[in-house]
Amino acid sequence: MGQPPQTIPTAATFDGHHPPSPEIIDKCVHCGFCLPVCPTYVLWNEEMDSPRGRIYLMKLASEGAATMTPQWVSHFDTCLGCMACMTACPSGVDYGKLIEATRAQIERQHPRSPGEKLHRRFIFAIFTRPARLRLIRWPLLFYQKSGFQSLIRGVGLLKLFPKRLQAMEALMPTLGPNEHVAEVTPAQGVKRRRVGLLLGCVQREFFPQVNAATARVLAAEGCEVVAPKEQPCCGALMVHAGEENGALELARKTIDVFERANVEIVVTNAAGCGSNVKEYGHLLRDDPNYAARAKVFAAKCKDITEVLIDLPPRATRNPLKLRVAFHDSCHLQHAQGVRSQPRQLLSNIPGLELAEIPESAICCGSAGIYNLVQPNAANALGDRKAQLIAPLNAEVVATGNPGCLLQLQSSLARNGKPTRVVHTVEILDASIQGKQLPL
Ligand code: SF4
Ligand code: SF4
Repeated sequence: MGQPPQTIPTAATFDGHHPPSPEIIDKCVHCGFCLPVCPTYVLWNEEMDSPRGRIYLMKLASEGAATMTPQWVSHFDTCLGCMACMTACPSGVDYGKLIEATRAQIERQHPRSPGEKLHRRFIFAIFTRPARLRLIRWPLLFYQKSGFQSLIRGVGLLKLFPKRLQAMEALMPTLGPNEHVAEVTPAQGVKRRRVGLLLGCVQREFFPQVNAATARVLAAEGCEVVAPKEQPCCGALMVHAGEENGALELARKTIDVFERANVEIVVTNAAGCGSNVKEYGHLLRDDPNYAARAKVFAAKCKDITEVLIDLPPRATRNPLKLRVAFHDSCHLQHAQGVRSQPRQLLSNIPGLELAEIPESAICCGSAGIYNLVQPNAANALGDRKAQLIAPLNAEVVATGNPGCLLQLQSSLARNGKPTRVVHTVEILDASIQGKQLPL
């Protein structure tokens, strides 16, 4: 266990444990270039729900001119943490560090209602524990396969339940067989790399086929794939929600596990996890035992599409006659700067036609636990995205994050355009295996 944060009282509203950096705040020149890509500004046209407005609110609080009223907090609760503002900002304002620090301050200082606390605790108790997610697979499978789900949805019974429960039910993935990834998958042919695979939590239990496809594609490209069974949640959901202590503990355990695995690269296939582990150096900067190791670990982490682009293709790509709309996950495009790699990998598949979704910089509304804690805004963004995808007439939508996958699937169905949404690596795997993607 790490030490609890040292809090030094200051004149400001923020406590002294890593308040949002005044240097970063002062880099904002209020130009407003970030406003058109901010999903909440696009929805509500409210200055205080824009990046510029939020930075101004942070500045007021850091000078002691604003307190953490419920209204002040609400402007940060509605932020998706999508980082579109960072990509758009010509002044290089690192909004990611600002919102992470602000959220940690809010969780330490702002008293949430008992209902809200319970809801957040429930989310973290389940979604950051693969073993617990595994346990709920069975009741979920029964709910889906017994016809109970269709019945409940059909008679509109869900409308009687709280909005948050409705949001969770709507996002539920259709569960398939539980494909396991072996602890070691040997490379095919001459070994080119020994890589670790970060399995994720939701990905591991609800989308095991994505991890299985990732291991197969890497092996086909000459990588020995090590997927340590004891790896914990990487802490992404906790970091993005301001739960700092829990996140630190999980980061330390993740580093321990992958150091023991002795791998050259740690491959991520969930954009939210990838952006989190790449920031471990910053997260663990105060820990004398882990600060340097965290930097080394973070430098080894790469998204699956970055790894594959760096390896000249060895496995044959078989033709796939498929029209695919590619959705950029925010934590891949804005937080990790990965945009061209998945497009290039998909375009190299013979017969595959790639369609671009308009407004690609704007979030689909998934954003970690956002669609669970802010269902109205998340649904509005999901509807907007579904309406942009529908005219493309794509047979499949591809993306690089399980949260986006769930959000898009549910939004497309709600908008009368049910479309299969898959991870990019599932399409590559189908092509390498010479299989048509099941539609
Ligand atoms: S992170 Fe996203 S939602 Fe938050 S201020 Fe930036 S663009 Fe807006
Ligand atoms: S684009 Fe950058 S500098 Fe301009 S208002 Fe937004 S955060 Fe501030």
